Amino acid sequence: MKVAIYSTHKFERAYLEEVFSGKHDVKYISSPLTIETASLAEGNEVVSVFVSDNASAPVLQILSKAGVKFLALRSAGYNHVDLAEAKRLNIKVARVPEYSPYAVAEHAVALMLGLNRKLIRAHNRVMEQNFSLDGLVGFDMHGKTVGIIGTGKIGSVVARIMHGFGCRILVHDKIENDELKNKYGAIYTDCETLCRESDIITLHIPLTLETKYLIDKNCISKMKRGVMLINTSRGALVNTKEVIEALKAGQIGYLGIDVYEEESGLFFEDRSEEILQDDMIARLMTFNNVLITSHQAFLTDTALKNIAETTLYNLDCFEKAISNKNEI
Ligand code: NAD
Repeated sequence: MKVAIYSTHKFERAYLEEVFSGKHDVKYISSPLTIETASLAEGNEVVSVFVSDNASAPVLQILSKAGVKFLALRSAGYNHVDLAEAKRLNIKVARVPEYSPYAVAEHAVALMLGLNRKLIRAHNRVMEQNFSLDGLVGFDMHGKTVGIIGTGKIGSVVARIMHGFGCRILVHDKIENDELKNKYGAIYTDCETLCRESDIITLHIPLTLETKYLIDKNCISKMKRGVMLINTSRGALVNTKEVIEALKAGQIGYLGIDVYEEESGLFFEDRSEEILQDDMIARLMTFNNVLITSHQAFLTDTALKNIAETTLYNLDCFEKAISNKNEI
């Protein structure tokens, strides 16, 4: 099949080439999928997109006219795809539901530790031969209460890691995981209780209409003063403007984010030569108790291999279904 792979970043190209080699007729496109670049898919039956690509209705309409029948997401999240429009256009969509929950969970924990032990500040000081410790006091993770919102694949790995640290674990999800309760002592509770009692809160739910701005000023006001908030899930789970106000007031004591609600068009690119136009992220960057990574929680060798292999598997299934004239 003819496949156009958008947003082929340098970091994943080798994994894609190795897995796809000789299997399909692949066109690698380094640009993201946007309304301007959609026509590059002309003549391809399959388009593969990454998490920051735009698969909204107008873009899908251009892809459909270009002959695209299958959209292979190289991500677990699908909030960037207009699924209703894809269905109407008869474009099938597949994602990579799981590539490494460990990668994301471990990154969330890295953010917690980096913030708690002030690793960035400490490293920068040492690089300037400043070996003083003032201002670097952290806290023992052991004995602290960690609140995990979402105990699916990633959240449940975070719970297991936090159990190893000796934390008290509060969790919130629509579906309870018995293993977390019985083996790791996790206590399911409502979101409000979790926010009230946790020293660290970490988000592992998808972005939906229901979860957008779950963390807003009302929710933040119920949290412990000086709470640590970690978001490796999706930017718009938190109202960033209200989080900034809470940071300024000291209500949020630490913020670790791998995702940002305005990350599309910002993250994944080298913009070091440009003047930063986004005032919200510019303000976040001024706090010394904020740690930001640009959507790299998934970025491990294991995850990249799994993403490439599952994407190929999804394509093969689609090809088989067409050749069998089966409905998928
Ligand atoms: P998952 O589907 O396994 O788990 C999500 C959990 O959230 C489920 O248990 C579900 O019941 C729960 N949930 C959904 N809506 C809820 C609500 N309104 N209230 C309470 N619970 C709710 O997903 P996962 O693989 O654990 O991934 C979680 C999120 O992590 C993804 O949606 C994605 O946005 C994000 N993610 C980020 C990266 C990254 O690199 N930063 C990589 C992969 C995934």
